[in-house]
Amino acid sequence: MDLYSGYINQLIEEFAKLPGVGNKSAQRLALHIINMPKEHVEHFANVMTEAKNHIHYCKSCYTLTDQELCPICANQGRDHTTIMVVENIRDLAAYEKTGKYEGVYHVLHGAISPMLGIGPNDIKLKELVKRLEEDVKEVIIATNSSLEGETTAMYISKLIKPTGVKVTRIASGVPVGGDLECIDEMTLLRALEGRTEL
Ligand code: ZN
Repeated sequence: MDLYSGYINQLIEEFAKLPGVGNKSAQRLALHIINMPKEHVEHFANVMTEAKNHIHYCKSCYTLTDQELCPICANQGRDHTTIMVVENIRDLAAYEKTGKYEGVYHVLHGAISPMLGIGPNDIKLKELVKRLEEDVKEVIIATNSSLEGETTAMYISKLIKPTGVKVTRIASGVPVGGDLECIDEMTLLRALEGRTEL
């Protein structure tokens, strides 16, 4: 791309590294930034740096937050005895958007995948087991219905059952390989309501 000079090319290249941003969009975004007032650009860059500096995992559920506990874990009005286990933060957001789930979450940050060399120790499983030392009545496994998601669900179920905590799995109305975040709210609610004990 010799159309632009070095700095613009660099900016386009950086945007193109972002998920879901193709070359055309990267070009549009880069040119938009160039046309923005200098203060806006500085503010934008600052917000990104500050976010990166202050955001970390919630001490309890491992979602992202800038506090010790995320707003969901810090909310005493939520049911802290029910933990929904999800693969990633986007899945948490999808369930949260339904506005109908009153329990708390646990974010694994991945799923077990022997093919990709991701084992139980590579995701936040020990952290989940540790949480069961507190008063927990039910663990709802809401991992995706992909092979990895199902493998992870079976593993968690075997891990938790001996502790006597009730383990349920969301209904498999969710299409195979379907990403939870792409599924509409009604389907998510139906999957949650139709959960079965493992
Ligand atoms: Zn939390």
